[in-house]
Amino acid sequence: HLKGKTALVTGSTSGIGLGIAKALAADGANIIINGFGDAAAIEAERAALEVLNGGKAAYDGADLTRPEEIAAMFARADKDLGGVDILVNNAGMQFVSPVEDFPVEKWDMIIALNLTASFHTIRHAVPGMRKKKWGRIIATASAHSLVASPFKSAYVTAKHGLAGLTKTVALEVAEAGITVNCISPGYVWTPLVENQIPDTMKARKMTREQVINDVLLAGQPTKQFVTVEQVAALASFLTRDEAANITGANLSVDGGWTAA
Ligand code: NAD
Repeated sequence: HLKGKTALVTGSTSGIGLGIAKALAADGANIIINGFGDAAAIEAERAALEVLNGGKAAYDGADLTRPEEIAAMFARADKDLGGVDILVNNAGMQFVSPVEDFPVEKWDMIIALNLTASFHTIRHAVPGMRKKKWGRIIATASAHSLVASPFKSAYVTAKHGLAGLTKTVALEVAEAGITVNCISPGYVWTPLVENQIPDTMKARKMTREQVINDVLLAGQPTKQFVTVEQVAALASFLTRDEAANITGANLSVDGGWTAA
């Protein structure tokens, strides 16, 4: 249902972003992937997306903590792919530390990537969407956009901000054929989760098994990690015409975490 449309998915060289890029490609959209990683692996993913969508897939390595690189990415999307119809703000990072020891440069980087980058992508995307009278803006927020956990001050702050940005922009563009929503996963098994286990072990003085069972899955009533495919399927649904009246929503995919 997305033939002729272009989707930009930030942070899509890995994890949830890559899963969303694949789902939107399978729906027929041209895709722009973004993020860091090994050049050969990224090229392989890009080529695979072109097989999936039977159209175009491009890679842009913009560092989203740099507003000028975001601007250049949108200029390129306008020139090569007719603009961005579907914007998925997914790139994000985590850092785990007690607030009094939280490295100032980590705080600044997490706010820049997990929150401010979405302000920049949105302000570049909205004018083109308004012209076409159609657009979809989706953020990968988090259960941490609704509730907190200790030692994640920057992440929880940024994700609560992202939920607020989503609601605000949804109201501004409500009559323009553009919907703005966020998806809030619980723990999804991706490199982001795997990589925070060692620091959580240190911060909480726990073993790896204790971190997985007593911290990560403790609050997830289903006792299962969410899958990348489950998040991607919801993103795909939000791009459909049937979802035209879902806007300003924060949609939980968290195994019941935030119901508790
Ligand atoms: P991931 O680490 O697998 O992927 C992160 C992506 O962001 C990668 O493609 C990486 O290259 C990219 N990236 C990092 N810094 C960047 C920068 N400066 N500029 C551009 N790209 C950059 O992580 P993931 O688990 O797939 O997380 C994706 C999103 O989902 C994040 O916003 C995260 O907060 C959110 N999330 C994840 C979980 C989870 O349990 N994994 C739960 C809730 C929300």
